[in-house]
Amino acid sequence: MKINLLGQTLPQLQELCAGEGFPRFTAKQLCDWLYKKRVDSIDAMTNLSLTQRARLNEIAFIGREHPVRCQVSKDGTKKYLFPVLDGHFIEAVFIPEEDRATLCVSCQVGCKMGCRFCVTGQQGFHGNLSAGDILNQLFSIPEFEQLTNVVFMGMGEPMDNLDAVLAATQVLTADWGLGWSPKRITVSTVGIIPGLKRFLDESQCHLAVSLHNPVPQERLAMMPVQKAFPLNQVLALLREYDWSGQRRLSFEYTMFRGENDDPIHAQKLVELLKGLDCRVNLIRFHESPEAPFKTSMPTTIKSFQDYLNRHGIICTLRASRGQDIDAACGLLAGKE
Ligand code: SF4
Repeated sequence: MKINLLGQTLPQLQELCAGEGFPRFTAKQLCDWLYKKRVDSIDAMTNLSLTQRARLNEIAFIGREHPVRCQVSKDGTKKYLFPVLDGHFIEAVFIPEEDRATLCVSCQVGCKMGCRFCVTGQQGFHGNLSAGDILNQLFSIPEFEQLTNVVFMGMGEPMDNLDAVLAATQVLTADWGLGWSPKRITVSTVGIIPGLKRFLDESQCHLAVSLHNPVPQERLAMMPVQKAFPLNQVLALLREYDWSGQRRLSFEYTMFRGENDDPIHAQKLVELLKGLDCRVNLIRFHESPEAPFKTSMPTTIKSFQDYLNRHGIICTLRASRGQDIDAACGLLAGKE
């Protein structure tokens, strides 16, 4: 099977070059073409010899796939649909704001986690994306040059496909890659402890934990992952790390009417996060026929936010974006 050069790290390319008898510096040249010049064909790598290019064409390719569809929201958000793995599709969402432009990328086709409020989760799991498939979502959109941030909050659970996620973030941050600061990247998780531990040890990117309910039994009813990896164990692990420096820890909390938006939930959330250097992002739930939940009233959300802020937790309300094109959180389905 041919190797996708997109997504290969410098050490992986050095190994490939050694195996082919190419000089060691060829790996660095490949990185320049792939990540600095972002060419989409091996033939465009003009400082490689014709023999090297011919051999690379035999054993490898550059997995650049253009999106097959782009839906544009009235607020400027764009949702891109990419073809991947035998007939499946994934989505990435471009979110322009005044002072930044963020791409929300997918890391799996579907998801195994089965969160009850999430359209992706209801579709089941169809496979992992490679690092190349993840990076292609950035590289193959016309807005690439505008991007200031990337969030791994699209389809899939990053800690369940961690090798590919770490390789992609390495390409984004390494000096042989794009050279971005890890502060421009946020990786989300529902809290898969083994993956999370490895991520915390090996990456400097920001972390966002999907919390959604501080009451264990209630969280379990929304998020099956609570059974294998209870929130208190996730928090115990997070407390072992220092969050006072550059790396930021945030908790995502989607507001569901009558489910997790009572003052008692706010109180329990404050108790749970006490002493942890973090912030909470409240998210307005976007109702969909496929999820049995309703969105909280704006006044309820405001009181919840005020309670957290009054009790020392920085709490923001994330603006709703791309709702009219089903690009909002939990609505990505990869439907053609
Ligand atoms: Fe998977 Fe995230 Fe959806 Fe949960 S919310 S099912 S982890 S994609």
